[in-house]
Amino acid sequence: MKIALFPGSYDPITLGHVEIVHRALKLFDKIIIGIGINPAKRYMFSLEQRKRWIERCFVHEPRVEVRAYQVLTVEFARSCGAQFLLRGLRSAKDLEYESYLEFINRTLDEQIETVYLIASPQTAHISSTLVRELITYRGKLKGLVPDAIIEEIYQSLA
Ligand code: ADP
Repeated sequence: MKIALFPGSYDPITLGHVEIVHRALKLFDKIIIGIGINPAKRYMFSLEQRKRWIERCFVHEPRVEVRAYQVLTVEFARSCGAQFLLRGLRSAKDLEYESYLEFINRTLDEQIETVYLIASPQTAHISSTLVRELITYRGKLKGLVPDAIIEEIYQSLA
C-alpha cells in the first residue's frame, strides 16, 4: 500500500492544500495529513480547530487521515508506515526552500521519497499566511478556504 504523509501547519487549511490532496489521491492509496507541532511557533488556531477543519474537508474521503505529531517529520512518516512525503510547490521560492528540506530529510532517512505537486493556477496564490491576514481584517474567505469551514473560522473569532 502506497502511503504518503502530507506534513504542514494548516493554520488554517486552504483550498490550495485541498487541491493537492485530491490530486495526490490518484497517486497514493492513503494520505495522512500530518499537523506538525512546533512548540517554538505561534499559531492563530488551536490544534483541535485545525484538525477538526481538515477532517471536515475530507469527511467523505476514507483514504485521508488527519494526525498531529511532534517529532521529526521523517520519524513520524516511518511510524505511520508512509514511504512518501507529499509537498506542494507554488513558486520558485517554495522550490528553493523545499530543496533544502529534502536535503535534510534525505540525510535523516534516504528511504523516504518526497513527491512534489505543482500548485494549479487556480490556487497557487493561496497561502495560510494570506488567509490569516484576511481573517485579522475580517476579509472575505470565499475561494480561499473550503466553504464548509468559513463560518466556523469567523465564529471562532467572535
Ligand atoms: P508549512 O509550514 O510546512 O509550509 P503549510 O501548511 O503552509 O505548512 O503547507 C503545507 C504544504 O502545503 C506545503 O508543502 C506547502 O507548499 C503546500 N501548500 C500550501 N499552500 C499551497 C497551495 N496554495 N498550493 C499548493 N500547495 C500548497
